[in-house]
Amino acid sequence: MPRALARRATNALAVHDVLVVGGGNAGCAAALAAARNGARTLLVERYGFLGGTATAAMVGPWMTFHDGRERIVGGIAQEIVERLTARGGSPGHVHDASDYVATVTPFDPEAHKALLFELMAEAGVDLLLHAYVLDALLDERGRASGARFATVGGIREERAAVTIDATADAFVAASAGVEMVQGDARGRVQPASLMFRLSHVDLERTAAYVREHPEQMRSSLAPGERTAASLSAVAGLYDLWERARASGEVDVPRELVSFFATPYPDEVTVNMTRVTGIDPLDADDLTRAEIEARAQVTQLVAFFRTRVPGFERCRLAATATQIGIRESRRIVGEYVLTRDDVLEARAFDDAVARSAYPIDIHNPGGSGTTTHRLPPGQSYEIPYRCLVPQRVDGLLVAGRCISTTHEALASTRLTPTVMTLGQAAGTAAALAVAAGIEPRDVPVATLRERLSEAGVDLRRAARTPA
Ligand SMILES: Cc1cc2nc3c(=O)[nH]c(=O)nc-3n(C[C@H](O)[C@H](O)[C@H](O)COP(=O)(O)OP(=O)(O)OC[C@H]3O[C@@H](n4cnc5c(N)ncnc54)[C@H](O)[C@@H]3O)c2cc1C
Repeated sequence: MPRALARRATNALAVHDVLVVGGGNAGCAAALAAARNGARTLLVERYGFLGGTATAAMVGPWMTFHDGRERIVGGIAQEIVERLTARGGSPGHVHDASDYVATVTPFDPEAHKALLFELMAEAGVDLLLHAYVLDALLDERGRASGARFATVGGIREERAAVTIDATADAFVAASAGVEMVQGDARGRVQPASLMFRLSHVDLERTAAYVREHPEQMRSSLAPGERTAASLSAVAGLYDLWERARASGEVDVPRELVSFFATPYPDEVTVNMTRVTGIDPLDADDLTRAEIEARAQVTQLVAFFRTRVPGFERCRLAATATQIGIRESRRIVGEYVLTRDDVLEARAFDDAVARSAYPIDIHNPGGSGTTTHRLPPGQSYEIPYRCLVPQRVDGLLVAGRCISTTHEALASTRLTPTVMTLGQAAGTAAALAVAAGIEPRDVPVATLRERLSEAGVDLRRAARTPA
């Protein structure tokens, strides 16, 4: 009997050890890690494909696997990059021409979608697509024991020994009664952006322009080094942008032009739309955001065609399925990662992930982005406790909605980090199931050892007591 039918027939039984809700990069890494560590694993996703923000919202490139001296992200994240590179779906890690981070990792979202299905099949992860999580299932003691989903066939329950909430919006954790926080001190979140790709671009002409106008591009590349091949990221074109704004051609609260290379020489990904003042958990706000952002895309495509050298014949190749949400709510976990933890490059005895990405906060109220960087060669760590909700057992959280402050989230939300967090959650869940213990009681030494064996880059000696 096909796997999906077998599961349906025994739906009322706990046929899975681990249930992962949300098939974004965190959820995919969690499901892979759980299955590879021996757990019977089900991954549930609301769309008909995996990848979440990286595919549905078409967000890229991934930033960053490096701290300016060495690679600090390994494990499943690095494996995915290598698999994509082998099939031409990514050039791998490349120098960031816009000087924002050490390296960026472009990828093709379509190649990523295909690869994620392959990886799940290889690891034996069961999939349930087109299923929208409604709420957590709780046992009589308030322990999470699965979740309820709205599907085309009606409401469906999926039970498991451990549930991982990787929905980015913490739907499962919130409904299980875990304490939540959202946004900054005033509850404001970072703006949302609808990503789009432009094809038929002549980057040779763009490169010639930034060679002739070196002050118009944020970059430490010498003018002579600005070739089409080296333009992994372009930030600037200030004069072109200001002229378009002044003439009223564009009405987008952005301070510069920002686009990124893709694996293909005539195509770029544009990260420029910006919708502020929305609550991503309010359907009316989301509706307004999608409509507003799409109107901005129309203006921006015209701007590129008429103003930017190399884009005269460009075409709108694709817009994302959904607007990209940088921030919504976060759980309050056993530890709350802070701004100081990030900027002081703190290490933890129970660390499960590392990142060197700056704290970058896109202005929740309008134009502008504030950036606080770590010095080259430094990275901070994220403790396992940030994945463990207070009080509620049977539950872990991975990805954007882990336990941090608003400022720390502005760094931890980046894709290489959420993949590592997913791998940690999936591995911990499998260890908990195997030992018959709660996720919060998983011995962190064993977890870290398992992660290191699987290629996750963890510092050898932690500095800050856990
Ligand atoms: C505009 C923008 C620009 C960004 N720029 C970059 C960048 O340049 N580089 C970088 O590395 N990162 C960037 N990020 C951050 C990064 O892309 C995300 O934070 C990260 O991908 C989040 O991963 P995740 O797995 O936690 O969540 P997601 O990828 O959002 O995954 C959540 C998954 O859960 C599913 N889901 C949600 N709700 C339900 C439900 N009710 N039922 C069932 N399934 C559900 C979703 O469909 C999705 O698949 C950016 C983000 C945005 C929005």
